[in-house]
Amino acid sequence: MDVDTDVLIVGAGGAGLAAALEATVNGARVLVVDAASEAGGTARTAGGGTFVAGSPLQARLGIDDSPDLALEDWLRWGGDSVDVEWARRYVEGSVPDLYDWLATLGVDWYDVHIQEGNRVPRWHEPRGGGLAVTTALEQAARAEPLIAWSLDTRVTDLVMEAGRVTGIVAEGPNGLVELRAGAVLLASGGFCNSLDMLRQNAGGSLPVDARILLGGGYGARGEGHSLLARVGAQFVNLDVVWMYPYATPDYLDEASARGLVCRGLKGEIWVNQQGVRFHNENLRGGATGTPALLRQSPPTCWTIVDARIADGYSVAHPRYRLGRAPYRDRLQQLLDGSPYVARGHTIDDLARAAGLDAGALRETVAGHNRLLALGAEQDPDFGRDLRGLEPLTEPPFYAIQFFPITRKNLGGVRTDLATRVLDQEDRPIPGLYAAGEVAGMAGGHVNGRAALEGTMFGPSVFSGRIAGKAMAA
Ligand SMILES: Cc1cc2nc3c(=O)[nH]c(=O)nc-3n(C[C@H](O)[C@H](O)[C@H](O)COP(=O)(O)OP(=O)(O)OC[C@H]3O[C@@H](n4cnc5c(N)ncnc54)[C@H](O)[C@@H]3O)c2cc1C
Repeated sequence: MDVDTDVLIVGAGGAGLAAALEATVNGARVLVVDAASEAGGTARTAGGGTFVAGSPLQARLGIDDSPDLALEDWLRWGGDSVDVEWARRYVEGSVPDLYDWLATLGVDWYDVHIQEGNRVPRWHEPRGGGLAVTTALEQAARAEPLIAWSLDTRVTDLVMEAGRVTGIVAEGPNGLVELRAGAVLLASGGFCNSLDMLRQNAGGSLPVDARILLGGGYGARGEGHSLLARVGAQFVNLDVVWMYPYATPDYLDEASARGLVCRGLKGEIWVNQQGVRFHNENLRGGATGTPALLRQSPPTCWTIVDARIADGYSVAHPRYRLGRAPYRDRLQQLLDGSPYVARGHTIDDLARAAGLDAGALRETVAGHNRLLALGAEQDPDFGRDLRGLEPLTEPPFYAIQFFPITRKNLGGVRTDLATRVLDQEDRPIPGLYAAGEVAGMAGGHVNGRAALEGTMFGPSVFSGRIAGKAMAA
């Protein structure tokens, strides 16, 4: 077969870039195609926090960790549906194949944090966040003469001949093109920016009245999933969408479909529409905070803060921060201008502005303040650690309305350990590979039904590297 390139990669996010670099090691010619005008995908706006077990940085900080300990946590947290082989492979490779490899490309791992479900801190923070990591990957790839680029080009179909995927159809600046390749990799990300895909795949497990905000990468519309479905690929855990409970609608987004994740509200309390607390606010993850929020009627809540707490808040969106530095004026504009934020000089005013029961809210806030005044270390209702928190006393008070926000697909297309896409009978579809979020980060379901955090970006890059090697071979 005449080919235009040896390896064709759909998607220039972390998985696609890693795959491209790895494929060239064996001398393959690579073409990277992406619908966006720039490379980097979702991780450009992501934290880039990466789950690594047993790193030199952990050792320097006195954190005793190992792949075995990490795998135990991973399997306990993710439940029965973890792909154990992929998980083991990732955890064991996380230092040599990810941490060390990215460090050689210039990534500076500078801190480690603890996340829910982990017994020790493993969430490795790269200096400059996900943008710095994807920039390092892109720079290395741009310097490689075997890699060609076709940005602003949307893949609309896969070409299949005699049971083998032999190329793609794409729409780019020069119209419709058909390109042939020895192997095609789908590294097209998830569907966390598509309400239709969310409803179609996870709708059954969500309350009918749930308003879910979109928070995936802008290109995460599930187009790769549709291409894969058309050639008979097998999917797993598509209903497992990892959502966080602390996002407010982006009021500057015309449809208010996208959400803004609010962080740094130290000492906030969450109340439901009845004005009462319902959860330990420190448990904010997709396996704890989100199910608690979805059990409320209606499934929304308000975070209650005073002026002092509001001073320290941040929003994880480029409009509200440059790197990690917040734009304070824009953050204040959000508090003052969003219809999803209420404000009051007293708690009664606040309740009225937010449409909450004033008596209930007054009692909730007073009860919280009383506990702190008494020096309580733990809240008796939900076990929240109260140490270091200050009472809510400084007006103006704010109530920011929260809804669940989509962030990551923990399920996707199934692949074998060489990232070859499997059909309904578990047979590899010749010529077709998948890595990254479209493959549930790796293999289809490396996380199972819950993620230890940092287990999306890392496994995406990791599976991308494996795909690159496999395709070039
Ligand atoms: C705000 C945010 C913060 C996050 N923070 C973290 C974190 O700290 N740690 C962590 O582990 N994970 C995090 N994640 C998740 C993680 O960033 C992603 O899971 C991961 O980067 C996915 O990489 P990918 O290469 O598989 O896909 P993507 O990076 O989404 O790349 C897919 C690419 O495919 C392109 N594409 C899609 N369809 C087509 C098509 N039809 N034709 C051509 N191109 C197409 C897209 O334009 C995109 O560039 C975060 C996610 C978000 C949204």
